Amino acid sequence: MRLLLIEDDPDLSCSLKIDLQHAGYAVDTAADGEHGEFLGMTENYDIVVLDLGLPKLSGLEVLKLWRQTNNNVPVIVLTARDAWHEKVDGFKAGADDYLGKPFHIQELLARIQALLKRIQGQIRPVFSVHGVTLNEEQQSVLIDGQQQIALTAVEFKLLRCLMLHSGKVLSKSQLSEHIYDFYNDPDSNVIEVYINRLRRILGKDMITTRRGQGYVFGKNP
Ligand code: CA
Repeated sequence: MRLLLIEDDPDLSCSLKIDLQHAGYAVDTAADGEHGEFLGMTENYDIVVLDLGLPKLSGLEVLKLWRQTNNNVPVIVLTARDAWHEKVDGFKAGADDYLGKPFHIQELLARIQALLKRIQGQIRPVFSVHGVTLNEEQQSVLIDGQQQIALTAVEFKLLRCLMLHSGKVLSKSQLSEHIYDFYNDPDSNVIEVYINRLRRILGKDMITTRRGQGYVFGKNP
């Protein structure tokens, strides 16, 4: 899971980044609204933690800009404690959840997990591409309506990412950003290993290698 943290307090940002990494997230940080807004529009994040009081561009402005352009990345806003109007403004601007400062990291982690679960549940718990059906709840796959096959966590994340971007070339580094779990610097050879495991499950022509570019999900026409 790839997370963007937009927070201008350097101490808080640094300690949150470490805690979030320990919890298994790949974390990018931005220290002002402009940079954060840019990252959120150009990179693919699974979730964003957004402080509202930011230099250059406020958190609310960042959120409004994203939502205006149909960027629906899940966002948790960090508000000042007891500032109820900030919470209201945040929700109006399109926030999915909020957390008042100061907070315990455990609460932030719980809210991130709950939000991701809620969002993933809303989006298709089961979806099919090219005869391959992925069941998100069971983390299993069904091929041409045949036998249900259980996937490991990494296989599931990798296949989900490929299927969501079916027909597009995904580089090894893009894929490792999304399946990142415990490694700070995921080895791109690991992706190759998992791609081969998926090919054994799905059939070897379901994932095409584009030499020097990456992988594409879907059979060649
Ligand atoms: Ca701030």
